Amino acid sequence: MTDENFLVMEKSIPVPEGAKTRVTTDLDFDLEGKQISYLRIPYSRNTSAWGRLLIPIVQFKNGDGPTMFISGGIHGDEFEGPVVLIKLIQRLKLENVQGRIIIMPAVNLPAHLQSTRLSPIDNVDLNRCFPGSKTGSVTQVLAHYINDFIVPKADYVLDMHSGGTSLDFAPCVVMHQLEDKEIEAKTLAAVRAYGAPFALYLKEGDPDGLLDTAVEKAKKVFLSTELRGGATVTKDAVDIADNGLCNLLNHFGVAKANRSKYTRYKNKTTTTLLRTADESCFITAEDDGLFEPLVNLGDRVKAGQPIGQLHHITTPARRPFLLKANSDGVFICRRVQGRAEAGDCLAVIATEEEWEDL
Ligand code: CA
Repeated sequence: MTDENFLVMEKSIPVPEGAKTRVTTDLDFDLEGKQISYLRIPYSRNTSAWGRLLIPIVQFKNGDGPTMFISGGIHGDEFEGPVVLIKLIQRLKLENVQGRIIIMPAVNLPAHLQSTRLSPIDNVDLNRCFPGSKTGSVTQVLAHYINDFIVPKADYVLDMHSGGTSLDFAPCVVMHQLEDKEIEAKTLAAVRAYGAPFALYLKEGDPDGLLDTAVEKAKKVFLSTELRGGATVTKDAVDIADNGLCNLLNHFGVAKANRSKYTRYKNKTTTTLLRTADESCFITAEDDGLFEPLVNLGDRVKAGQPIGQLHHITTPARRPFLLKANSDGVFICRRVQGRAEAGDCLAVIATEEEWEDL
């Protein structure tokens, strides 16, 4: 695809009366076996009359059992999920599956191909537009299909994220605080089984539009990850992601999955449980400047401890702005780019909790 294609805005096209979606697929969700196919979304543009967007989708189905939906690349500048999922698609043997696994390794494919967070076609964040719209732009149409046709089939959903272009995380598996305590207990057990160095138990401050919220509303078990970031791929993040994915498939009883032959990490540590209780955990730039972190990802910090400073290079006489931790906790996320503008997230300090206290 050329850049020119991405500049064409997708117009809202009405769905024919009676049709539930504009998305088509050859994949038969009821069929036994391994299918590698596409979701096809109408995408008419100057260079392609009757064109379609082809979004890869893969299903393994073997007998009765639970259904797990696994997504990567909902943000197109996060590559750890796509790497681990493409390897699983090629490695997993159908006879080791018990139930059904639906995998979309790069859900927002147009964004993935441009390494951008948002879709370059319509400038929509796929993870802020759920439950989507069947008459909306391509990203909204895709979200609507996942919401209406895939989520209802799933018992368990894993959505693999990282910090993308602007953030870098100490590797975390992530879950939300839930009102339904039965589903919360199942999710907590899965988070422990995942085996990441850190687990983040979040009260989502801005839940509207997330796939997370759509799945949780449907009363399904939902887990996410924040595995490094920086729009790159690191061995530690891929190893933790691969190990955690296999642990979950085994934990949910949907597959006997073996890790990639290149994966070295194996639940070496007990997962440290963390929480971002409120806004004060997020340290935001209130001025432009050059961000210098004073601690490393994963470091424990004390309330009041300097964790970074913002330098003013164009005014050398001006003292740097010192950024301090608001509470005791772990430095789990940092801004990747040195330059920061007012409003950018510079760091996240999550507080440590005891598993028994949940
Ligand atoms: Ca993300």
